[in-house]
Amino acid sequence: MTMRYVYLYLLIVIFVLACQETPEKQADQQETNTPQATETAPTNPEATEIYEPVPPRVIPGENGAPPSDAIVLFDGKNLDKWVSAKDSVSPAPWKVNPDGSFTVVRRSGDIQTKDYFGSVQLHIEWKSPEVIENEGQNRGNSGVFLQNRYEVQVLDNNDNPTYTNGQVGSVYKQSVPLAMASVPTGEWNTYDIIYHAPVFNDAGEKTKSATVTVIHNGVLVQDHFEIEGTTEYIGWPKNIAHADSFIKLQDHDAEVSYRNIWVRKLE
Ligand code: MG
Repeated sequence: MTMRYVYLYLLIVIFVLACQETPEKQADQQETNTPQATETAPTNPEATEIYEPVPPRVIPGENGAPPSDAIVLFDGKNLDKWVSAKDSVSPAPWKVNPDGSFTVVRRSGDIQTKDYFGSVQLHIEWKSPEVIENEGQNRGNSGVFLQNRYEVQVLDNNDNPTYTNGQVGSVYKQSVPLAMASVPTGEWNTYDIIYHAPVFNDAGEKTKSATVTVIHNGVLVQDHFEIEGTTEYIGWPKNIAHADSFIKLQDHDAEVSYRNIWVRKLE
């Protein structure tokens, strides 16, 4: 009688052990759950080739010039696409130069685009003042604000250390750049920025963070960084629901210059 129970017990133990999945078994199962595994594997090259939809044709610009589908925000002639950020109506008070650039007029206030944008590819070129003044955050400071809220820092960092999450190429006070890639002071820098706007639900809660990728003079300095919220000088980032908004350039009391600014809208 006792032996019978022992056999029964052993049988139960063996059954339970047999039912337990080994890691290999689990991996096998995951593999067979992928669409590729559930379908018959293609046996010819054509089976994995896609012909539609056909991407739109875009004619690239030469030497940083805008591609054919870009919205040009500054073409070297005037600031007609910009207004003063003080009232969002008055003409942009910065100075257009004969060389096709424009320069911050100190303490005249920020400027912003008339157009509103969501996700964009943005090309912008900037130059620190040739005459070096001040240090740290007060040397050649400006900034590119995406959707009026999220700053990619512009700063003359050459021989001018500051907190690294506020240096050139940082997402100000949120993300240290992967490299310091500035050209010498007084020469032209390029920023190529890929920005995806945040998503908010009907209750006003953020359901997806904004992301930003920044290429500074051809060097990746922000790699799809998830923006934490608004740029704040003091305090934590905030996440208040917003729609499309303008691109803003910062007057931080330094004669930073800009040129060749264009955007492509992204989905
Ligand atoms: Mg700044």
